[in-house]
Amino acid sequence: MNEPPLHRPGPPKGYLCQRCGNCCRWPGFVRIDGPTIARVSAFLGITEQRLVAEYLDLLPSRTGLMLRSRPDHSCIFFDGTGCAIHPVKPQRCREFPNAWNFPGWREQCRAIEIDG
Ligand code: SF4
Repeated sequence: MNEPPLHRPGPPKGYLCQRCGNCCRWPGFVRIDGPTIARVSAFLGITEQRLVAEYLDLLPSRTGLMLRSRPDHSCIFFDGTGCAIHPVKPQRCREFPNAWNFPGWREQCRAIEIDG
């Protein structure tokens, strides 16, 4: 009888977000571009001018706009349990943690490993 081959799992193919909201709470800048401004304002049913005035700030580099943060560093669109603009959120938010992350991210993010 042949011994079954050992299963040696390699690195995960990716991570599946569990919507814990932790990445909506930590400090950082989330740039938002023109097409996303249009999508978010349409999703919220407000004008782009109102979105800019009430929910966005100038990046410190003055090269564009970013989502506004509250004094506790949480995102202006974090409603306490999740993202209020989830279907249209900026690329930076959509791509974490698969396309980018940072040292120590695993201690704060509850995304589960997927094998693809
Ligand atoms: S910290 Fe990770 S699991 Fe939690 S919402 Fe962000 S990406 Fe999803």
